[in-house]
Amino acid sequence: MLRIARQPLIFLFILFTFCIFILAQAVSKPEEILGFRVGEDYHLATYTQAISYFKKLAENSDRIKLFDMGKTSMGQTMTYAVISSAGNMAQLDKFKAIARRLSQANGLSAEEAVKLSEEGKAVVYIDGGLHASECAPAQHNIQLAYDLVTAKDPITLKVLEDVILVLVFANPDGMNLLAEWYHPNVGTPYEVSPMPWLYHKYAGHDNNRDSYIANLIETQNLTRLVHQEWYPVILYNHHQTAPFPARIWIPPNSEPTNPNVHPLLVRWQNLIGSAMGAAFDAEGKEGAISRIIFDTWYPGYVTQVVDSHNIISIMTETALYRYATPHFYTVRDFPKEYQDLTMSAFYPSPWKGGWWRLQDAVDYCLTASKAVLEVASKYRQELLYHKFKMGQDIIERFKKEPPYAWIIPEKQADPQAASLLLNRMILLGIDVYKSRQPFTCDGVSFPAGTYIIPMTQANALFIKNVFEEQHYPDMRKYPDLWQGLVESQKFEGSPFEAYDMMGWTLPYQFGVKTYSANTPLDVPMSPEQDVRPPKGGISGEAGEAYFIEHETNAGITAVNRILQKGGKVSWAKKSFLSGGQTYPEGTIIVPASNVERGFVQNLAKDLSLKITAVREAPKVETYALKKPRIGIYQSWISSEDEGWTRFILEQFEFPFSVLHDADIRAGALADSYDVIIMPDQNSPELVIDGHPKGTMPPAYVGGITTNGLRNLKLFAENGGCLIFINSICNLALETFGIPARNILKGVKREEFVCTGSILRMEFDPSHPLAYGMPKEAAAVFLESCAFDILPSFEAKKEPKSAARYAAENLLMSGWIYGERLIQQKSSVLDVPYGSGKVILLGFPVQFRGQPYGTFKLLFNAIYYAAAK
Ligand SMILES: [Zn+2]
Repeated sequence: MLRIARQPLIFLFILFTFCIFILAQAVSKPEEILGFRVGEDYHLATYTQAISYFKKLAENSDRIKLFDMGKTSMGQTMTYAVISSAGNMAQLDKFKAIARRLSQANGLSAEEAVKLSEEGKAVVYIDGGLHASECAPAQHNIQLAYDLVTAKDPITLKVLEDVILVLVFANPDGMNLLAEWYHPNVGTPYEVSPMPWLYHKYAGHDNNRDSYIANLIETQNLTRLVHQEWYPVILYNHHQTAPFPARIWIPPNSEPTNPNVHPLLVRWQNLIGSAMGAAFDAEGKEGAISRIIFDTWYPGYVTQVVDSHNIISIMTETALYRYATPHFYTVRDFPKEYQDLTMSAFYPSPWKGGWWRLQDAVDYCLTASKAVLEVASKYRQELLYHKFKMGQDIIERFKKEPPYAWIIPEKQADPQAASLLLNRMILLGIDVYKSRQPFTCDGVSFPAGTYIIPMTQANALFIKNVFEEQHYPDMRKYPDLWQGLVESQKFEGSPFEAYDMMGWTLPYQFGVKTYSANTPLDVPMSPEQDVRPPKGGISGEAGEAYFIEHETNAGITAVNRILQKGGKVSWAKKSFLSGGQTYPEGTIIVPASNVERGFVQNLAKDLSLKITAVREAPKVETYALKKPRIGIYQSWISSEDEGWTRFILEQFEFPFSVLHDADIRAGALADSYDVIIMPDQNSPELVIDGHPKGTMPPAYVGGITTNGLRNLKLFAENGGCLIFINSICNLALETFGIPARNILKGVKREEFVCTGSILRMEFDPSHPLAYGMPKEAAAVFLESCAFDILPSFEAKKEPKSAARYAAENLLMSGWIYGERLIQQKSSVLDVPYGSGKVILLGFPVQFRGQPYGTFKLLFNAIYYAAAK
């Protein structure tokens, strides 16, 4: 009996082993599909290749599934992988629900949270390739997936049991663009030359400065994944620019620490960072460094966004030479302070030099990712419970202390900007409500329909982080702040600069009024999923003309649509009376004879515009607008500002084309353009000189040259309009003979520092450049200009100022030193130039696509240029 009973068991065992063998055989190694090893010298897998390999993995393994999250800016599908044990893979929805419940914390008891933490899995999000020129992380994704899917060792099997990995290629377009640029150059003198265009259609490197507002479609997809679907406990965002000669930068982070995070979060970052460091030293991988350079102040990054959502962010910066090209270093190549290889607490195993290849970088990324996964496995329950605990503490905190809520009135100068801001906050996991009744808060009355963001929600610190004013800490108060033995940073004497923006307050940038409640609110309210601006429509009797407000950005979209359709549009030069109402200068006037009422009605509905129909056209002098032929200068030294300019113009439906150095050198610019926009560029010299000869393939060397500069001048002299944005205004000031100067040019750090703050700007709404602007508004300041108008012998050549830095309370958010230097100086100049114009927008009115409150200056400049 016994023998008979055992035989089928043995048979089953053999069959099972055979199946495992077949399955293991079926999972191809990456090199079998790609044709090269992951990380091999001179080889980069494209996104297309990576996904086709992932598809093979998913066909042959029950540990991995692929999902689509949406499109990229260039129209590719963004596919991501979920990897876990076969058992977990069959119950993903259950684990998603647990992750969501713990993350929201609200109404959950500690006992229930303990139970859910026991039951749940640690969802860990890892991405590679956000910054596409940092090649190793995206390549590492491929190897990591293979290693996890085929692992048989007990540690990895336990990881797969405890953890659900969400593995993401964060910038598919960039991954392809980079590989396509690099491969043809391998073996040529241009093998390590920089790519002459952005590695994201619009944002380039700024794709990691978009996370707190999600303007880019990729950011929207990733945000939905993290904040609407998976609610990870850890988000690991790979980068590749380690401080030389370190081989990888890992947490703990540098200072200053953004205060809008739960302390537990910082503790976990430090713990995970230390575990990663231990993994490196256990594997004999030298050169892991912490606690210098990378701080957590600015929340535009994906990591800082999730920190204030109680998701433990981990960022690393692995060492990078260039692309997949290897490089040899000796200790003599190191900065002097690193040459003695001193051991220190945050750099205990200094790197001693040698070869550094893509393979090494990929291996470092793998060690780091696996260390994170192992921590998530070991501390699964604690991590899940602490996610709940952080949320619960925050909810309790704001029951007892202000701000109790943020209040956003429905009535706004630009209601579309307000609804856009609120919808993005909803996407970012914030609960937004609408009051059902009128109410009073801190003595201010608000009507029913006012938007409210209560702070009694688990993600409240995020809203505080982006809505409040920032007060960048004066680091000179902590002169001995120790940041690492080998590169200690002493903050003393002259003021310092920040790693990124010091202030960002989003409602200021959007020109949206908000109030923070200093007393608890008690008003019935309903949750909002999709915030709509107040309905648009046409009021008044049909007649000779329509009036459209200039205050909203959507008014500009309307102008573009009308002109596109062949209609006529003008701006009132002065304020005027019509039907007993006063309309301000800049009012958009559309003759009714030229457009069908149905079309105007659609504009009102589609763009939520309040349009007035009037029986008689007003008797007021106007600027007649025409459809401008717009050119945007795109240097071969790629500029994020240029990309964002295109992004904004597309959003508001301006048709434009792009000009390169050769187009400007060729001249005859007036044949094709009415307006040429010169976006911000690192330095004026780069525009003129471009890439030096021999450093790039010949098509991309040299800038516009002095000849091109002459062509630009001729273009303006003969009636064209040049628009310079931010620091590139210096090019015009230095070479065009304009009677103005930038008083900040050459100013020392001891006299003035303001590296990324929000400043109060005063506008002259009677100047066409500032039509539709309020008298006072917030403006981004970063390497910006403050103009002094110089005496000029001909009045008609004298520049006119349309905006100036506020006389009082200049700083709205961030930090400034030496503000007296710029108070009441001009920031926007309208310069007559021959029969044309030069417009100097001395601050970044469209910075990173964020300040919706000042886009209008660029839009006005474009139309003003072509207005008659
Ligand atoms: Zn990076």
